[in-house]
Amino acid sequence: MNTIGICEYCGQVVTPDRDYGSEEENNKNAAYRCNCGPSREAKLAQQKRQRQIDQAIEAISNLFESETEENLYAIEPDSAEVAVSLLKAAVIPVIDRHLFRVSIDIGGVKAVISRSGKNKIVVERSDATKRKLEV
Ligand SMILES: [Zn+2]
Repeated sequence: MNTIGICEYCGQVVTPDRDYGSEEENNKNAAYRCNCGPSREAKLAQQKRQRQIDQAIEAISNLFESETEENLYAIEPDSAEVAVSLLKAAVIPVIDRHLFRVSIDIGGVKAVISRSGKNKIVVERSDATKRKLEV
């Protein structure tokens, strides 16, 4: 039996790379394999989204998992671990526009993940520099 799928973008019949067991999944694969313009655009958008996810997760690791001299304030390892997992969990909701901004106060360090007007994902770390003396 020949499995066929229909590209959801152009209606072209395309053979999926295997039988995915349901018409819906076969159509999805057909759309993925189709070479029409809208399918290519969708693939590019998907790749861009994945790249943004990867880069945001890397930025979170760079800012919160490694203590460098730029970081004025050392985060307790346990707190860093919790903060990093919360920030990583926020990446997809922010990229997919379910959340506009997520901020976490780690005590001395604030972490923010948000989307800029240019559709970039922003990962911020601000270390407290306030000096306070109580006598
Ligand atoms: Zn197509």
